[in-house]
Amino acid sequence: MQQRDLTDSLRALIQSTLDFYARFDVTPELDTSTRVFREEVDELIEAAHDGTDLTHIAEEAADVFVTAIGLCLANGVNADMIIEQTRAVIAKNDAKTHDTHEINSYGKIARKGN
Ligand SMILES: [Mg+2]
Repeated sequence: MQQRDLTDSLRALIQSTLDFYARFDVTPELDTSTRVFREEVDELIEAAHDGTDLTHIAEEAADVFVTAIGLCLANGVNADMIIEQTRAVIAKNDAKTHDTHEINSYGKIARKGN
C-alpha cells in the first residue's frame, strides 16, 4: 500500500471513530475503553477460532481496530501519533528478514538469538 493511501485510510478510520464518539457524546476514558477493547478482542478470537464466517472475522478485526483507537484517544494519543507509529511498525516489519529474525518457540517472529 502506498504511504499516502495508508495515511488516508488510517486518518479516515480515526476521524470516523472520533465522529462516532462525538455523536454519542462519549469522551473515551481508560476503564471503559479497556473493557470495550477486550470485549472486541475476545469477539475476534472467538470468530477466528470458529473459522466459518470470514466476513465476520474481518468485521471483528475492524472492531478491534476502532476500539484500539479509542484506547489511544483515552490516553491523549492523537491521529498523527497513531499514523506515525503504524508507519514505523510497517517499516520495521518490512526490514525484517531471515538473516535478522526467526520464528521462536511459541511461533512469534523475533530477532535472532532472543
Ligand atoms: Mg464486535
